[in-house]
Amino acid sequence: MKAVVFNGPEDMELQELETPEIKKGEILLKVANSAICGTDVRIYTGKKTKDVRTPSIIGHETVGEIVEIGEGVKNYEQGQRVGIIPIISCQHCDACLNGLENACENRQAIGYEFDGGFAEYVKIPSEAVEKGNLLNIPDHVDFSEAVITEPLACCINGLRKSNVKLNDTVVVIGAGPIGLMHVQLAKIAGAGKVYVSEIVDHRRQKAMDAGADGVVNPETESLQEKIKEYTQGKGADVVVMAIGVAGLVNECASLLKKCGTLNLFAGFTKGEWSQIDPNAIHYNEINVVGTTASTRQDNRNAMSLIANGKINTDVITTPGYSLETIEAAINDVMDGSGMKSVLNIN
Ligand SMILES: [Zn+2]
Ligand SMILES: [Zn+2]
Repeated sequence: MKAVVFNGPEDMELQELETPEIKKGEILLKVANSAICGTDVRIYTGKKTKDVRTPSIIGHETVGEIVEIGEGVKNYEQGQRVGIIPIISCQHCDACLNGLENACENRQAIGYEFDGGFAEYVKIPSEAVEKGNLLNIPDHVDFSEAVITEPLACCINGLRKSNVKLNDTVVVIGAGPIGLMHVQLAKIAGAGKVYVSEIVDHRRQKAMDAGADGVVNPETESLQEKIKEYTQGKGADVVVMAIGVAGLVNECASLLKKCGTLNLFAGFTKGEWSQIDPNAIHYNEINVVGTTASTRQDNRNAMSLIANGKINTDVITTPGYSLETIEAAINDVMDGSGMKSVLNIN
């Protein structure tokens, strides 16, 4: 099979490898589409190193068809179209038992500890098969739509942590694919107004296409002034950071009204620190929350929202890449020229 092997930062190579052999309890998935995650970009640039092996096959936003089933596998069949839920949780640590399997203390993941989806085939390990980490794709849902299930699930987890309520004003920082998912989910959750800050011109347009009520270009106008103006001086109920820029945390907190919630949703670069005014948190009783990954139930909800036609997937994705053009796919995410790059694999 063809696979892209990650050897280290900025070193990826298309190779011909043996197609994985399937043993008891395992499943072989023929990959239809894989998408580039912001985390893949951070792995590629060396900004994320935790749990990343070299050499390995990364990629965790993957959909495809089951082509082989190991002995003893229940609940799945050959020919079934499925999406991967990458996080394999242990189900017995404190985090898992407290309903936070996304943050499992013993978590393993496809695309990290196990080889992932930037290949023609992926082996689904038995622990993932047992835990139901393959999600059925309804017949009427295209692979190209279902491929955003996992990142959408992470945003659903983020929405829960942000506690968006009816008629809230939400500010999303960054109109990349994740930002646009937050815009759409906030609207579905009942937000009254959603505003988006983004420096790339075509992405601000995409934010409006995704349902935003207003956009700000923080390079040419003051984000704080603009949000004040939009909210008649009140500030936002929720601010979601969909870009991992540590230096922006304090400014984002300053956009909130009293008791508002700041969600540090994006991953940040290891070693970079933020300064924050503790009195802004103290006097304004601001909540600062984070979000990591998603639960299996979040993934089910994400697939269901897509199947119900609630998510505009077209504004989120840029199709047409392949294993051969994976570096272009990554670069186009990195410089903001595309949205979420989607590879056609089989
Ligand atoms: Zn992802
Ligand atoms: Zn656990």
